[in-house]
Amino acid sequence: MFLEKERKKVIEIARRASTEKLVPLTFGNFSLRDKETGHVCITPSGMPYMTLEPEDIVVVDTDGNIIDGKRKPSIETPLHTAVYRKRPDVFGVVHTHSTFLTAWACLDGDLPCITSEAASLVGGSVKNAPFAVQGTQELADVTSDTLGNDKAVLMANHGAICVDESIDKAYNNAVVLEESAKVAYLAFTLGKPNLLSEQIAKALQKETNENYGQ
Ligand SMILES: [Zn+2]
Repeated sequence: MFLEKERKKVIEIARRASTEKLVPLTFGNFSLRDKETGHVCITPSGMPYMTLEPEDIVVVDTDGNIIDGKRKPSIETPLHTAVYRKRPDVFGVVHTHSTFLTAWACLDGDLPCITSEAASLVGGSVKNAPFAVQGTQELADVTSDTLGNDKAVLMANHGAICVDESIDKAYNNAVVLEESAKVAYLAFTLGKPNLLSEQIAKALQKETNENYGQ
């Protein structure tokens, strides 16, 4: 099967997101860009993640044309392909509706940078893209524009997307940011938290990129 390993990887991430409660039911969508062909493997529209088979994953090009697969691709395919077109460094896109990130996305303004682990990954606060209807080109445009060169962006009254150089890293960003959104909620409930400045957040991110891991 064409891009079988990559299709299996997308299913693995979608199932983890479902098990770890970053998406309810069939919401959210997940994709990776294959480094060799440049094609995008993306989850199908409205299918339960636990029973997905590799042939259910749809292969599209970065303009959204179907290259391989018999399913209808995610309705947010224009969002994923817009990100890949604008960001040559991105090879994984994870769109979640996780509870705390979505709660922050329902407020005016950004998710403040409050934990050092979030700062280490995304290097600052997470911007909130203007509201647009799901599945539209407008949503794809405003979300990918607001994302800019960041690793995550909130989608107003909807959810969030996280991106990175692999779908594994994009998924990790989604988990860490959901935790950070939860901590931010608790800290703001308890009182007036000390926020990390953009300067400190950027320094933490640089330190992590250079020194973390084996
Ligand atoms: Zn969504």
